[in-house]
Amino acid sequence: MRDAEPLVMEVLRSGHLTQGPMVERLEAAMAGIAGTEHAVAVNSGTAALSLSLEALALRPGDEVITSPFTFAATLNAVIASGATVRFADIRPGDFNIDPALVEGQVNERTRVLLPVSLYGQMADLVAIEKLAAVHGLAVVEDSAQAIGATLDGRPAGSFGVGCFSLYATKNVTAGEGGVVTTDDGEVADRVRLFRNQGMRSRYDYSCVGGNYRLSDIHAAVGLSQIRRLEEFSARRNDNAARLSQGLAGIPGLITPETLAGRRHVWHQYTVRLTDGAPCTRDELAAALAAEGIATGIYYPRLVFDYDCYRGHPQVVASDVPVAARITSEILSLPVHPGLTDPEVDRIVSAARKALRA
Ligand SMILES: *Cc1c(COP(=O)(O)O)cnc(C)c1O
Repeated sequence: MRDAEPLVMEVLRSGHLTQGPMVERLEAAMAGIAGTEHAVAVNSGTAALSLSLEALALRPGDEVITSPFTFAATLNAVIASGATVRFADIRPGDFNIDPALVEGQVNERTRVLLPVSLYGQMADLVAIEKLAAVHGLAVVEDSAQAIGATLDGRPAGSFGVGCFSLYATKNVTAGEGGVVTTDDGEVADRVRLFRNQGMRSRYDYSCVGGNYRLSDIHAAVGLSQIRRLEEFSARRNDNAARLSQGLAGIPGLITPETLAGRRHVWHQYTVRLTDGAPCTRDELAAALAAEGIATGIYYPRLVFDYDCYRGHPQVVASDVPVAARITSEILSLPVHPGLTDPEVDRIVSAARKALRA
């Protein structure tokens, strides 16, 4: 965070604290990363998703298909848009929505496909893009965890309307923040309007909007981090490779894979403990915690498997057996760029001890 100081000081000295030149610099940098013509900064990843859907002018009864294995923000943004949400099951290989199963959920009310690129690896956006073209649908990418990831050389956020988060735990952070990326000038224009009370110029309201502006102080922090994205991603990749090498060959323990054509940016390094494993997921988590190693479960339940979503009129809960099983198998080990090789090795030996391997 120290390298944010000069840029933050620049903002404080300029006196331009919000929606100013530093926000524009952040947007230019994000357009570069996503390889899109436009990038619009907003104040959270959730706002990026909401405003993207808003820009597509969904109406009640319209449907959005997304992953059941995601953070609530994805689902909340669809519900806020007024549309109805349906789920297609995931593939165990990349934890992302299975395009073949997405097709089975498409009907005459479907308007948007909303894949989530979980843990830093892109969903099969090539197949999803094709499906969208065949059925005349829009694509919105939840790329909150996938900044810098690519598929066949094409960056996350460049397939549909890209939605990034700059929240504190993400690979690149501004503390809070989000970005919408797109090649569609009209979508970018609408998101810009919604971001600032629908105003094209002061008190000239052209649509119903809100306040989703990002401050220049946050943008300065975000920009200082974006400059280090390659360094962070490379370090995460090295840590993941070292973990996988150290954890290879343990029965029932499945280490994460990188599918063909992908650049994985390792937002999370997530193993699965399946039936043949020497201990359960919860036992492994407890053993690591006892050695001072923090792990995470992303996510412990299907996103719609809560009272507030079950029975919600805009939520169509479907049968998603793969995602349902995987919620009880997954454990994310530390992979962040601050880890040294000896620290990674300590995680490996603590895990091997718990797994009696
Ligand atoms: C973090 C995250 C979001 C929301 O981003 P915020 O900036 O916290 O609003 C949306 N989707 C996924 C998959 C995320 O991980």
